[in-house]
Amino acid sequence: MRIGAHVSSAGGPAAAFGRIAAIEGEALQLFISAPQQWKPPSLSDEQVHAFLAAKATAGIPAFFHGVYLMNFGSHDPALLNRSVASLRSYLHWAGELGVVGTIFHVGSHLGAGFDAVLPQICGSIREAMDGAPNGSRVILENNAGQGNCVGRTFAELGAIFRGLDNDPRLAVCIDTCHAFAMGYDLSTREGCELAMEELDREVGLDRIVAVHANDSKMPLGGVRDRHENIGEGHIGLEGFRTLMAHRAFADVPFLLEVPGFEGDGPDLENINRLKRIRDELKS
Ligand SMILES: [Zn+2]
Ligand SMILES: [Zn+2]
Repeated sequence: MRIGAHVSSAGGPAAAFGRIAAIEGEALQLFISAPQQWKPPSLSDEQVHAFLAAKATAGIPAFFHGVYLMNFGSHDPALLNRSVASLRSYLHWAGELGVVGTIFHVGSHLGAGFDAVLPQICGSIREAMDGAPNGSRVILENNAGQGNCVGRTFAELGAIFRGLDNDPRLAVCIDTCHAFAMGYDLSTREGCELAMEELDREVGLDRIVAVHANDSKMPLGGVRDRHENIGEGHIGLEGFRTLMAHRAFADVPFLLEVPGFEGDGPDLENINRLKRIRDELKS
């Protein structure tokens, strides 16, 4: 189990490898464009070569996180088109840069209901995938169940998988904070087992390619997305020990998206807390 983190790509995507090395991370996640803007990623040949060289030297897996604006449940055709174009572009660059895949949020049904938007969601993701035919994974992330967000339960993720004929490129990233806020009690053995049974039934445990390892400021079932440093939230160190012991996560990279003890994002202390648990479980 690799312990890594989301890091900034300021100064070019290759710079992310220096940042992950500085906090001794073993896997990384990055954006390749501003996450709050539609401006598509555009990388020069130099940036591509620098990224590939840095990645080869570091020898660690990398993941993209898609932009936050995407919404495959939108009834606005312009916004839907931009969402497809944005995902397609990330999938394209994922292939070029040899990253595992692109983790993204499906969006919101805006009150229409999950079933009403499901065909459109599947059609749009299909369109993005077909426009970037390479082996990079298309990684759906569960959310905290806030508002009308799609992908709150593993059953909803399963419905999207089936709508896409369980395409082999599809995968999931489980965010521990989101799952906990949604009411999946990953902090207890029974709760974790129940959650993983549902996930296994809906998409298959082998589809988990990443975990967003975040503690939760919200209590179980709080349905709000508030990340906390590892051990400082309602999941707690014991909770992480329990979930990290589950076979579903044995070979899956854990990526931190925590506020950090200095307030500037994932840091060495958060990484070390997860590494200590991992090493205890090994011995
Ligand atoms: Zn996340
Ligand atoms: Zn979150």
